[in-house]
Amino acid sequence: MLVDNHGRKISYMRLAVTDRCNLRCFYCMPEDGLDWLSRAELMNYEEMLRMCRVMVRMGIEKIRITGGEPFVRKDIMQLLSSISRIDGPKELTITTNGVLTAPYVAELKALGIRSVNLSLDTLDAARFFSITRRDEFAVVMNTLDELLRHDFDVKINAVVMDGKNTQDILPMVELTKDLPVSVRFIEEMPFNGDSHNYTGLQWNHLRILHEIENSYPTIKKLSDDLYSTSYNYQIPGYKGTIGIIAAYSRTFCGSCNRIRVTPQGTLKNCLYDNGALNIKDIMRAGASDEQIKQELLNTFNHRPVDGREAERLRHEQANIHESMATIGG
Ligand code: SAM
Repeated sequence: MLVDNHGRKISYMRLAVTDRCNLRCFYCMPEDGLDWLSRAELMNYEEMLRMCRVMVRMGIEKIRITGGEPFVRKDIMQLLSSISRIDGPKELTITTNGVLTAPYVAELKALGIRSVNLSLDTLDAARFFSITRRDEFAVVMNTLDELLRHDFDVKINAVVMDGKNTQDILPMVELTKDLPVSVRFIEEMPFNGDSHNYTGLQWNHLRILHEIENSYPTIKKLSDDLYSTSYNYQIPGYKGTIGIIAAYSRTFCGSCNRIRVTPQGTLKNCLYDNGALNIKDIMRAGASDEQIKQELLNTFNHRPVDGREAERLRHEQANIHESMATIGG
């Protein structure tokens, strides 16, 4: 078992395969996009696959492919297929905005992928446009239908933003009445690719819960998995569940089992840290698998105790201008 310097099991890797995205969610990146990474700066698929093999041998049991938008990267199904064939106990899963995803749903299922996280912040087409700056609401809803038609375990991720989509909280809860989905409300974090626009957290996990409890006083707390980042609930009689993720309040660091790898191969021990090791660089410098493993073990021995410490230790402490798309959200 892979364990860090604070005795926490490490078993989950989130790999961002690109920084590029076909949406422009205002809380994630500026309207003009980011300074996209060049191809040479990105890990190539061979490097990603090699890294995944090493990680699985070391004890990683779950790999989530994310981005940027994974389906924007060319031949993503080829990478997913190769990772799905790695030996060892593992779960492969994906986070997507659902714009390009629908045609691949059957193929994802055939690869043995069972769960997909779909980002959807509103059930209203006009608000979808104002948040994402793209007119793709109907397409994303079609992806949701396709995923459910293929019996995927679907988690819908909704970032809760004051003045933007708080009127969607209750309709999204109501979605769980007939659909077997988990709707997860996420606290907005400052990773919007622009340090000047984050005005502080208006809707923390308690306020979100309070809003739901007001309309659904019979809401039941469910037991949470050991490594769950969400507090989970259900409205009695409803098919789906509700999760609330304290992504900014950071209440779940004590059981954090996850690491992240950015599109350029930087390993992050924490969403809020500055990057601990560049795996692509050591591979390109000729490291053997054993050397990569030793470097990783050393890095896992220096994990910050929580997201607060990680943020404090960052070089650009008070000036977080990263985008979730470059971090591996
Ligand atoms: N493109 C894919 C998608 O949209 O699901 C994967 C990458 S996206 C960066 C992953 C998740 O990060 C999405 O659910 C998105 O809503 C979330 N996210 C992005 N910026 C965020 C922020 N500033 N605060 C909270 N969540 C954020």
